[in-house]
Amino acid sequence: MAPAKKRHIVVVGSGPSGLAAAYSAALNGAEVTLLEQMPSCGMKLLASGGGKCNVTNTLEIEEFARTFGRNWRFMMPALEMFHGRELLEFFELHQVKLVKSDGFHYFPERNGARGILNMWLEQLRSLGVKVSVSSQVTELIINDSKICGVKCGEHTISADAVILCCGGKSYPALGGLGRGYKLAEQAGHPITPLYPAMTGVKCQEEWVKECAGLSLDDVCCFIDTKSDRRNVERGELLFTHNGFSAFAILDLAGRVAELLDTMPTVPLCIDFLPQLETDALCALFDKWRQSSGKKSMLCLLAGLFPRRLAEIFLGSESSTPASRLKSATAEQLVKDIKRHTFNICGVESWDKAMVTKGGVVLREIDSHTLESRKTAGLFFAGELLDITGKCGGFNITWAFASGMCAGTAAASK
Ligand SMILES: Cc1cc2nc3c(=O)[nH]c(=O)nc-3n(C[C@H](O)[C@H](O)[C@H](O)COP(=O)(O)OP(=O)(O)OC[C@H]3O[C@@H](n4cnc5c(N)ncnc54)[C@H](O)[C@@H]3O)c2cc1C
Repeated sequence: MAPAKKRHIVVVGSGPSGLAAAYSAALNGAEVTLLEQMPSCGMKLLASGGGKCNVTNTLEIEEFARTFGRNWRFMMPALEMFHGRELLEFFELHQVKLVKSDGFHYFPERNGARGILNMWLEQLRSLGVKVSVSSQVTELIINDSKICGVKCGEHTISADAVILCCGGKSYPALGGLGRGYKLAEQAGHPITPLYPAMTGVKCQEEWVKECAGLSLDDVCCFIDTKSDRRNVERGELLFTHNGFSAFAILDLAGRVAELLDTMPTVPLCIDFLPQLETDALCALFDKWRQSSGKKSMLCLLAGLFPRRLAEIFLGSESSTPASRLKSATAEQLVKDIKRHTFNICGVESWDKAMVTKGGVVLREIDSHTLESRKTAGLFFAGELLDITGKCGGFNITWAFASGMCAGTAAASK
């Protein structure tokens, strides 16, 4: 008897989700073609973590998923396949040791993102996956609500299943051209509004440009609206020529962009000195007034955070001796330091956004297989879906896990 014909699966996109989808589909017995529009594979993966690639982190599965917000439950079946121990063991088995030098973020011990990409490409090669670069998929071929193939340039490629792993709209230079949304829409899948996320924000306060380049290791900030106040981010803050960037800000940017659809400016509250409670700061000022005599306020405040920022907060009071600090000025200083509100009027463009907030609506997708409920044989994985993680290895883990889930399901159908 002739051997059963293998299912042919087309994977669109060679980011982490596409690599994992192609791998798991081939491992489960399918014949796989991976199509990538850019001249080389995994360009965003190579740029991740500044080339070091923060693959994952130490959070337990549910806590990990919950950081993604309202859609976290949808992620659980895929994460159960490839998260935590499964993920670490997979990489170790394939000679990529992941280490957590800061106790939380996992990076490859050697060879950074390039080592990760090479490992996946080597696995695809050994499983016989056909990888084709400079191959843009422009259309899905769907008959009677069933996927039959894709159009790629002049060619029509038939397929028993297609897995869309096209990523988002950010960093167009690395392949983030948003083409996957058009393909999903063609299959009848709605897309949520899309916003640039994980990027810097711009503010109206002109004085921040005087601090451009200044970085503070530890600040707290939150969007000061009723629904967002409890979501406090803590970490590094960088002043830019028109606003702020770095870890404390990156995870708020997508939400800021969304709010800016309905508000002219978004209030962003920054605590520049979270290590000191408000009462403790008031007490410190009292102490300075009583016992620091002729020492200037600038000299004292510059001991707490960068001198440039201290100068701006103090203004004409910079040279005032501590003993002559008025209580109203002290009160204002405490407010400026502990609860400084900025009017955010924009976020950086798609060119600088590391991820896309929003994506293919999840309602029409089976979370256990990541298959479309509208078009049989069409699967989704990675950032293309309406799932956006924070900084810290969340997005790449989701891309790998969802790719593994979709690839396995597509091959086993
Ligand atoms: C600078 C930078 C640093 C980052 N650092 C980290 C980090 O350290 N840790 C982390 O977790 N996340 C990080 N991210 C986010 C992370 O890289 C992405 O979330 C992740 O790559 C998404 O994977 P994906 O496979 O869904 O999409 P992508 O990696 O974007 O891959 C999609 C691929 O599909 C291709 N494609 C799209 N449409 C078509 C089409 N029609 N035909 C053919 N090919 C197509 C694209 O060219 C692209 O190669 C970073 C992002 C950036 C930009």
